[in-house]
Amino acid sequence: MKNYKHIYGPVRSRRLGNSLGVDMMPLKICSLDCIYCECGATTELTTKRQEYIPIDDIIIELDDFLANNPSPNYVTFGGSGEPTLNSELGKIIRHLKDRFPSQKLALLTNSTLLNDRQLRNDILPCDLILPSLDAATDEIFYKINKPETSINCAEIIDGLKSLSAEYKGEIWLEVFIAPGINDTNEEIALFKNVITEINPTRVQLNSLDRPGTISNLTAAPHVTLTDIARKLAPLPVEIVY
Ligand code: SF4
Repeated sequence: MKNYKHIYGPVRSRRLGNSLGVDMMPLKICSLDCIYCECGATTELTTKRQEYIPIDDIIIELDDFLANNPSPNYVTFGGSGEPTLNSELGKIIRHLKDRFPSQKLALLTNSTLLNDRQLRNDILPCDLILPSLDAATDEIFYKINKPETSINCAEIIDGLKSLSAEYKGEIWLEVFIAPGINDTNEEIALFKNVITEINPTRVQLNSLDRPGTISNLTAAPHVTLTDIARKLAPLPVEIVY
């Protein structure tokens, strides 16, 4: 692969197959500072949407790759910060759907900006949306995701519900399980209510794969994830860790 700056892979992804990644943000600008983030601590915590990376630079690389290589299963917007913070995300999505209409597009998002109607409209043409939700209450949300101060859990859940009502594609909701923080019976029961209301196509339980930003965070044992999956039934839960 050429020496691209904003796209990487294609990588073999457990969830997406052959996935060409698009890094929409500079390291490490995000609306959250999750304790499990593999990219390190957030250096700029913000909810401000702007063109952090010139979108035309990303489009040039995508056009070049897609015109000269076999199609990946997905072009996936993600990377080392929250991709929806890039205000021009919709422009790339529209461009790819015009120029490469059969190319499937996936979006990884931390869900914090889904309350923004304009953003939701921008991402509707994606073929798959993989939002995350790690808490059903602010207390747990602050512990795991350490958000920018204006964000709260209820608004994220509202945004997810709105997306679910408007979007025609599949939503695979990822839940990161942090042992001792969001795996209590009480939190799982609240999760069950909230996720039932969101009504995603799949619920994917994940846990620590590579070191996060705090040293004492451990991976949830498989037996814990299995137990949580059982408690969340009949929701369509799978363990992806
Ligand atoms: S939302 Fe994603 S990029 Fe941002 S801190 Fe959390 S894991 Fe890292």
